Amino acid sequence: MRRFTGSFTQQEALPQEAIDAAVRVMESGRFHRYNLAPEETGEVAALEAEFRDWQGSAYCLAVTSGGQAMQIALRALGVGQGDAVLSNAFTLAPVPGAIAAVGARAVLVEVDESLRLDLNDLSAKIESSGARCLLLSHMRGHLCDLERVRELCRKAGITVVEDCAHTMGACWNGRRLGAFGDVACFSTQTYKHLNSGEGGFLTTDNEEIAARATLLSGSYMLYERHGAGPGPEVFEAPRDRTPNCSARMDALRAAILRPQLKRLDANIARWNALYRVVERGLSGHNRIALIDRPAEEFFVGSSIQFRLPHFNADQCLDLLSTAAERGVELKWFGREEAHGFTSSHRNWRFAGGQTLPQTDAILATVFDMRLPLTFSEDDCRLIAELIVEAVDEVMPRAAAPDRNARTSPAF
Ligand SMILES: *Cc1c(COP(=O)(O)O)cnc(C)c1O
Repeated sequence: MRRFTGSFTQQEALPQEAIDAAVRVMESGRFHRYNLAPEETGEVAALEAEFRDWQGSAYCLAVTSGGQAMQIALRALGVGQGDAVLSNAFTLAPVPGAIAAVGARAVLVEVDESLRLDLNDLSAKIESSGARCLLLSHMRGHLCDLERVRELCRKAGITVVEDCAHTMGACWNGRRLGAFGDVACFSTQTYKHLNSGEGGFLTTDNEEIAARATLLSGSYMLYERHGAGPGPEVFEAPRDRTPNCSARMDALRAAILRPQLKRLDANIARWNALYRVVERGLSGHNRIALIDRPAEEFFVGSSIQFRLPHFNADQCLDLLSTAAERGVELKWFGREEAHGFTSSHRNWRFAGGQTLPQTDAILATVFDMRLPLTFSEDDCRLIAELIVEAVDEVMPRAAAPDRNARTSPAF
């Protein structure tokens, strides 16, 4: 049997420039962002300014994780105990986790077949929940109509936090993701688009939100040492009213992120090339439904999702093992129990049981696969062929119902 032998969790080594920068920080002994020599800007402040410029936001704050960025964003918007916060039913566990962490209550919104937020359900839940905030997760980079979301939320007086963990570098209608909400949150955790092990950013164009977020991140009133924050006068009002929640980024992580940021646009092009190879390899198969990508969406193909609408749960489980035998690591969102990084709203009991029949029916046949940059285009061609083989083994072609045959069958 043909097998792929690469690792789906292996990221690239850091560029030498990042390693050298890390060594310099270690030699200096100054790891804390506020521990600076006279006249020194510091790695964290420099990174904040560079990310702000790259992202095109007015302000940027570096923090310890994407999850912390979301908690801080919610708090900076005044979300607290008992408040309802709308969010996607299809996302990663730290998203409802951030809502729970600030004492708020997640109200999950259905997603549609293309894994985007269902805007009809959003409208209905804006009405029924009384929520004042939407934590919009651009999960796996599948974007809903962001202009419409903005308009819906503006009319209802709802603030928007964008979870850009999968959309660093993505655009909607030519505009950077993160520019549509009041605040945006990014992650630099190992599996995202920049890798510092753990880490994150919060960006905003609102100076008051930026000031509160900075105080919340644990600035010890040293906010003048930040690289991309508002002026000291903006801190006067919130300074003694905002708790220090200790979520600062350190100099070592910032040092390894700065050289990576310079390479991010080139890496996005590499991810998208890998994505297109896998997509091409899976397209035209009469049982594999690819997720469509609207023309407005410029995505970063660091992972790929597809559906097998004819498969039942046993066949889905079978596919995980037939693919694994071929060295292909697929994730399935239809599992009852949480499995590694993959979980569904059914596993977030801390958020209260919610009834989301549409999302459940869709996730029951959704598969997910990472595309680390350690893969070559040839690897991706092989992986797509192996997925097709595995699908054919679980459900032989002749047995497939042809009513959903796609327009350009490959066979
Ligand atoms: C990874 C991730 C986060 C949170 O990032 P961490 O840095 O791991 O806290 C948030 N949302 C989504 C969709 C993610 O995948």
